[in-house]
Amino acid sequence: MKWTIGDVTISKIVELEMTGGTRFLLPDATPEAVQPIAWLRPHFANDDGKLTMAIQTFVVETPDRRIVVDTCLGNDKQHRRIPHWNDRQGPFLQDLTDAGFPPDSIDTVLCTHLHVDHVGWNTKLVDGKWVPTFPRAQYLMGQIEYDHWRNSTERPDMAHVLADSVTPIIEAGLATFVATDAQLTPEIDLVPTLGHTPGHVSVRIRSRGETALITGDFMHHPVQIARPEWSTLADTDPEQGIATRRRMFAELAGTPTLVIGTHFAGATAGRIVRDGDSYRLDV
Ligand SMILES: [Zn+2]
Repeated sequence: MKWTIGDVTISKIVELEMTGGTRFLLPDATPEAVQPIAWLRPHFANDDGKLTMAIQTFVVETPDRRIVVDTCLGNDKQHRRIPHWNDRQGPFLQDLTDAGFPPDSIDTVLCTHLHVDHVGWNTKLVDGKWVPTFPRAQYLMGQIEYDHWRNSTERPDMAHVLADSVTPIIEAGLATFVATDAQLTPEIDLVPTLGHTPGHVSVRIRSRGETALITGDFMHHPVQIARPEWSTLADTDPEQGIATRRRMFAELAGTPTLVIGTHFAGATAGRIVRDGDSYRLDV
């Protein structure tokens, strides 16, 4: 799946898709609460009101850069809180290569934040050591984000994530820490969308009068477009996350900006429009 924004193309590479089992993330999204939101079907929910979600990467190609946005779960990782995220043996790297993006061809990696499902393929296991999966890339990570998690004890699992997926990148000299509003290329800049994590960013692409926004996790599922007040259990500051969603939806509604959801399955992208006293995604 591919989108074109002026001179920029954005390609989706899926690591994992799942339907149901999302209550650990969005406790308010019971089947009874989801079913009345008809526009979620068929891409984002099934007839039973169970949510579909994806873990995926976007490869953003500008005239002079090839950027991987978020690196999913990775293979061989241990000590993950969610059982089937442990010791994965998935074909993601082969899928990425088959789509025309061999790891050696990537010059930039951007992590919207440092959660487990956004940094996994930063590294791969070779001879018992974690080495950069994209050896020719500059890895961009948020300075605020890194400083927060490096000093935090609130999520013991994050220590493992940093140790196998972030620290090896720093030790290889490939990490660059950036501000939440950094300009990456003439076409791409970061937009601070805080709340899910303290340094969380979205990625804005503007070229030849067209605009797209890769969300990261300021929302995890399109159901939050209809229900901005539904927070995920993974949000460090749920109130700030709600304020961010309300602000972003108000800014985006009715504009031609293509909203590309980092965890949105199926069509993955659409435009936000007003829907009664809330919003929906037009795919
Ligand atoms: Zn996250």
